[in-house]
Amino acid sequence: MNEHLKDIFVATGCPSQQQLLDYVQGKLTPEEQHEVEMHLADCELCSEALDGLSAFNDKEKLPALVREMKWDLLKKLHKKYRKSRRPENFNIYIAVIVLAIIFLVLALFWGYHFYTQPK
Ligand SMILES: [Zn+2]
Repeated sequence: MNEHLKDIFVATGCPSQQQLLDYVQGKLTPEEQHEVEMHLADCELCSEALDGLSAFNDKEKLPALVREMKWDLLKKLHKKYRKSRRPENFNIYIAVIVLAIIFLVLALFWGYHFYTQPK
């Protein structure tokens, strides 16, 4: 096995978009192709991305597709990130809602009190 290639894949985790594109278009060397296949076997993200690329045969439209793919990947990563951790503004959001409810209740109470006050 080519140790240099192995290092690239270990360091970056996933092959680059260009590598996936080259893989789809058969431009990779057999060694590189093997590395990509090995990675695809246990990386859902990349195999899904590759499915998208493979299903699309019109090479002229590939750049646009790659842009979409990039967004899909970012969205997926973002979702995973949000699942594992609360959004950072979550507490602020709750605080604003609670304050709004308190303010509303106070306003209603004050208004009720004001209108029912005996003269
Ligand atoms: Zn991957």
